[in-house]
Amino acid sequence: MPADPAALLRQRAIHVTAQRLAVLRAVAASPHVTADAVADSVRREIGAISLQSVYDALALLAAEGLIRRIQPAGSPARFEDRVGDNHHHLICRVCGRTVDVDCAVAAAPCLAPSDEQGYQIDEAEVIYWGRCPDCQPRSRPSSRSAARTRRRRTRRPAARRR
Ligand SMILES: [Zn+2]
Ligand SMILES: [Zn+2]
Ligand SMILES: [Zn+2]
Repeated sequence: MPADPAALLRQRAIHVTAQRLAVLRAVAASPHVTADAVADSVRREIGAISLQSVYDALALLAAEGLIRRIQPAGSPARFEDRVGDNHHHLICRVCGRTVDVDCAVAAAPCLAPSDEQGYQIDEAEVIYWGRCPDCQPRSRPSSRSAARTRRRRTRRPAARRR
């Protein structure tokens, strides 16, 4: 994120408003943030803002390529300001922790389908799912308790458990 986010908006001919600047700063300060969390942070910074205004600002900034939106299965959309590098994400199934990982290939699309069927493909969306180091069991659970745990986790994917 450049020192002057207002200049960034002007470069794209986006009207600079306090709300848009605050949204951009909130995303830059907290990679993979949800719209709800952006709204909380913007409210702390500039006071009242409707969730709809936050969604509108996020949609505009994403459409202009200033932020990137990712939509992991079973999670609200998340936003980050690291754009344009085709990086991917590692997501913990247990605690939901999401981190960046460089693409092993670099340029998009980094995966080829078995049959392109005439599509001009420009991106393969890659999310690696698993368990973060903190959520890996010290000893292997029995397959029965593992299945039970998996069901519980499917209902509450973001729950932080230690
Ligand atoms: Zn975890
Ligand atoms: Zn990322
Ligand atoms: Zn890749």
